[in-house]
Amino acid sequence: MLRESVRTTADLLAYLQLPSGSADVEPTFPVRVPAPYLSRIRPGDTADPLLLQVLPQMRERDAMPGYVTDALDEGNALRAPGLLQKYNGRCLLITTPACAVHCRYCFRRHFPYEEHGPANHDQALSLIAADTSLEEVILSGGDPLVADDRTLERLLQRLDAIPHIRRIRIHTRLPVVIPERVTGAFLDTLRTLQARTVLVVHVNHANELDAATQRAFACLAGAGATLLNQAVLLQGVNDDVEALANLCEGLFEQGVLPYYLHMPDRVTGTHHFDVPQEKAAALMAALHARLPGYLVPQLVREIPGDRGKRPIYWATEGAEAL
Ligand SMILES: *Cc1c(COP(=O)(O)O)cnc(C)c1O
Ligand code: SF4
Repeated sequence: MLRESVRTTADLLAYLQLPSGSADVEPTFPVRVPAPYLSRIRPGDTADPLLLQVLPQMRERDAMPGYVTDALDEGNALRAPGLLQKYNGRCLLITTPACAVHCRYCFRRHFPYEEHGPANHDQALSLIAADTSLEEVILSGGDPLVADDRTLERLLQRLDAIPHIRRIRIHTRLPVVIPERVTGAFLDTLRTLQARTVLVVHVNHANELDAATQRAFACLAGAGATLLNQAVLLQGVNDDVEALANLCEGLFEQGVLPYYLHMPDRVTGTHHFDVPQEKAAALMAALHARLPGYLVPQLVREIPGDRGKRPIYWATEGAEAL
């Protein structure tokens, strides 16, 4: 399915019967959309919230003041090739350089995977094993589930063998974009782990959820994983109360709890997704007025140098601004 993904703007537009409009037919960050995700996009609808996440726009080429390639200063958080640590007790391992889908708003679209990629995890693993202040390892990427089952099994078991690692977290979009990726072999590996496992999926709109994602999540939960979701607040995709409420309720129906709602990072080529912070705050207040507390994600922004994602606080009065 990965190999057969749509990989050009022209193919994406043709498949969905769309005019080229403001699409960029030769983007530097290439198009990638696998079939199961493509099937959830409404043909002929230029405003489809899933389409907007994957269709390159000419606006990505605008040079904008304040937007840079490494907005999160990840280059300075490297402890070993492929190993980032910014926060207390948890480190992040770049597991694979590839993703199953290319999200236009991606903050790692310029990440120099060739320099800090996963070519060799030995050094990172030795460092994790030697640092008893680490309790949690996060597999990120790229998308860690792009790695094959055998590679993941070996990596997960090596991490699990480190006594001070109590939690293993996997950040992945694959159970959503290709639910079939949740294979029996991968589930078997999860079941063997002593550490608590957390799977953070990444869904931005309720239309990304269907019967196949429901089955995939049920299997993952059955193998002992705690399921959380992180979303990015994206202009035109999910920047209204209805869309956010449907997303949070839809996730919970499939056994996933909303975790973070990220403000988009100021990364070159993504400015057209920006939502003003006052609007974000008003959306949170409206969401809070509508949903039970456990379905309201935490609105955060990543600020380089902080000790964790920075919560954006909002007042309930803000709801009246909408
Ligand atoms: C976002 C991030 C984490 C995870 O932060 P949580 O608040 O624990 O979800 C960990 N390490 C790095 C480098 C990150 O960017
Ligand atoms: S799956 Fe994540 S890392 Fe990959 S392109 Fe999308 S947002 Fe970026």
